[in-house]
Amino acid sequence: MKFDTAYCLSLDAKLSIYDVRDLNFDETMAFDSAKERFQCPNDACRAAFDEDNRLTTFNAKNVNYIRTPHFKNQPTTQHIEGCPYVSPKTPGLGAESGEAESDDDREEHFPSELLLTRRQYVRKPLNQLKDVEANQPTSPNLSSHGDDTRSAHDSTPDKTSVFAHPVECFVSNFDNKDLLKRMPLKIGEHTAPYASFFKKIDYLLDNKGLIYWGKIKEIKDYTQSFRIDFEAKVWFKQPDEAKKKPYSVNVYLSKKLIDNYRKRKAFLEEIKHAVDSNAPLYCFFYGVTPELKQVPSKKNPEQTFGVFSANIENLDHFIVREAPGLTEG
Ligand SMILES: [Zn+2]
Repeated sequence: MKFDTAYCLSLDAKLSIYDVRDLNFDETMAFDSAKERFQCPNDACRAAFDEDNRLTTFNAKNVNYIRTPHFKNQPTTQHIEGCPYVSPKTPGLGAESGEAESDDDREEHFPSELLLTRRQYVRKPLNQLKDVEANQPTSPNLSSHGDDTRSAHDSTPDKTSVFAHPVECFVSNFDNKDLLKRMPLKIGEHTAPYASFFKKIDYLLDNKGLIYWGKIKEIKDYTQSFRIDFEAKVWFKQPDEAKKKPYSVNVYLSKKLIDNYRKRKAFLEEIKHAVDSNAPLYCFFYGVTPELKQVPSKKNPEQTFGVFSANIENLDHFIVREAPGLTEG
């Protein structure tokens, strides 16, 4: 059983595993999921047990994950009867046996919207935390007395502000085209099924403002800045030309962008791992659309050539990763 969210005691909020990863790597937040306590997101279920009845995490801190991150039961985790998070493997409930946990490699919880404003978290004051813990078994709602400091996102679990979440949905369900065509995704004012919101970089001229993705040909490491070159070309016809010609595509990450990133360390680890990796890598980004630019030729600086290029403006909406399920074609 995978959990779309888990209740985090110290933040008094339900978090997705992608929220947890975001918090783990955020250098402006003191948060370590290994030290946090996570419980069943079902309020009634949580109220029925003491605070030692916990969930654990999978791939919460791994920068370069391949398998889908999630929350899961510990061997000792209990749920009340009727809890929607009861899984066949949950001990003590006599559910039908023999059903293996086969869902580990897919993200089944599709956010319907990627929020472009980051989620804010408020850590509970220590004394209030103790109160709640002491009273938890009988009064689970003690802390929710109209406390407006809590995020409005608590009640909207189908929205996320973490780009990695919709990307994982797309990557891990890539072989299920029908599902990707069925599930809607909204970003800003634009809504489209996952299948068309994720646009192969070769077809970026089709529509602006989408999530573009493609296989990486090379990552140019300029030590403090980087350029990602895509394998695919964009076929484009200049007004004064008779036929379409292929153009290279790249995105550029500036030193300033990286230096000011709140997850700088994790980002550098991710991209340096990618630079050294022999595995096929893919890049996903949202927020900018590469445009045709003339750049000087290295061999012959008086000459210029055309390339589709964009400067990434927000690293929160940029990912380089392995994605074994993404076959070309
Ligand atoms: Zn439960």
